[in-house]
Amino acid sequence: MTKKFNNRSWAEPYKMKMVELLKMTTKNQRLKALKEAGFNTFLLKSEDVYIDLLTDSGTNSMSDRQWSAFMTGDEAYAGSKSYYNMEKAIQTFYGYKYVIPTHQGRGAENILSQILIKKGDIVPGNMYFTTTRLHQELAGGKFEDIIIDEAHDAKSEFPFKGNVDLNKLDYLVKKHGASKISYVSIATNVNMAGGQPISMANLKALREYTKTHGIRIIHDMTRVAENAYFIQQREEGYANKKIKEIVFEICSLTDGATMSAKKDALVNIGGFLATNEWDVFEEARNLVVVYEGLHTYGGLAGRDMEAIAVGIKESLDDHHQRARVGQVEYLGKKMEEFGIPIVKPIGGHGIFVDAKAFLPHLTQDQFPAQTLAAEIYLDSGVRTMERGIVSAGRKANGENYYPDLELVRFTIPRRVYTQAHMDVIAESTAMVYDRRKKIKGLTMIYEPKYLRFFQARFDKL
Ligand SMILES: *Cc1c(COP(=O)(O)O)cnc(C)c1O
Repeated sequence: MTKKFNNRSWAEPYKMKMVELLKMTTKNQRLKALKEAGFNTFLLKSEDVYIDLLTDSGTNSMSDRQWSAFMTGDEAYAGSKSYYNMEKAIQTFYGYKYVIPTHQGRGAENILSQILIKKGDIVPGNMYFTTTRLHQELAGGKFEDIIIDEAHDAKSEFPFKGNVDLNKLDYLVKKHGASKISYVSIATNVNMAGGQPISMANLKALREYTKTHGIRIIHDMTRVAENAYFIQQREEGYANKKIKEIVFEICSLTDGATMSAKKDALVNIGGFLATNEWDVFEEARNLVVVYEGLHTYGGLAGRDMEAIAVGIKESLDDHHQRARVGQVEYLGKKMEEFGIPIVKPIGGHGIFVDAKAFLPHLTQDQFPAQTLAAEIYLDSGVRTMERGIVSAGRKANGENYYPDLELVRFTIPRRVYTQAHMDVIAESTAMVYDRRKKIKGLTMIYEPKYLRFFQARFDKL
């Protein structure tokens, strides 16, 4: 009896009160849309998409409480009540002392990088993120990857692939001297590693190390609550702790943070910079007026700040995170049952399908991941994204990068789709898997100079 109930199902801690109707398309309509989009899912019109898994950024559903808070937004230019509500939520739940709102995560990254990075500095981090690294470089710094080797290995099932390799950090400190390190940049639930967590033990060890060398830790806390969920599930000593407590502990081990509220915090736009240092706050208050807006709105409407304040609280609910990550795991397990090759362990915000293993008869020059994303759209109207040779782009000498990982990303928006949608996604991928041997690759017929994956066009071979 007890055994039977050991593994009871989770269900969403909410119900629906308003729905968005979707356009249902035929295969012929999708083929036409796909051709018009040059076989690039970024160029599809969202109207022609049934289930949109392009990103989890800004695609969240807000709750009734967030929408009510939205209506109470104080749109004053200066000293908005909504700023103080958001500040209070950040201080209460994350523990950081000073808060600067920004229009989204990269706005905070820009300001923080300008303040803390000097030309020639080194910025070690647990894997890069596109905008984060770009702002570090624009400020004159050089990013150095100090994530553990397992993070770069799609086959490794290590439970904390977001961990820092302290030896790699120590090597950099010895080589350049601690004064050349602006800060250590730590992302929770590392996006580019597939939504993989850092352990509390590793973060504590990093705090010890950085303390003795007088180095700051800056926290990219975009997915901190999802990371806390994995600590609760996997790390010794945390099974009986609440996500709220774990998040607070993570933040307490760092000196400041940048946040894209478009992910964890359950809103469609927004972000902030937070710090425990008065001097950094002072400078950030000066800079924010140049790039974003006054320090009490930072490019956001009062209503956005109200929605963030409520969203932060909702994101720390144990039932919410169980359903959030549970849904991603549900999709991943379903795909595994169909024999579809996916990256393991299953991460917090999406499933990554291994396109090289899926379409082994295609060479990387025939764009296996791009091909697979197009085929899945054609089958069911599900939109996914290429993360392989097209995204990797070209080197300075014009040659293509040939990345080890050739993946299709299925990113799950928060509180948007149902379990039945997950079934449709897995079954569609399985249908394509069944006829995989007949699938032909693509050839690139238009290649933009920068970030080609967004606008490149292809044709069927
Ligand atoms: C999305 C993201 C950012 C950038 O935030 P934006 O709101 O898109 O500007 C930074 N870091 C990580 C890990 C992210 O996922």
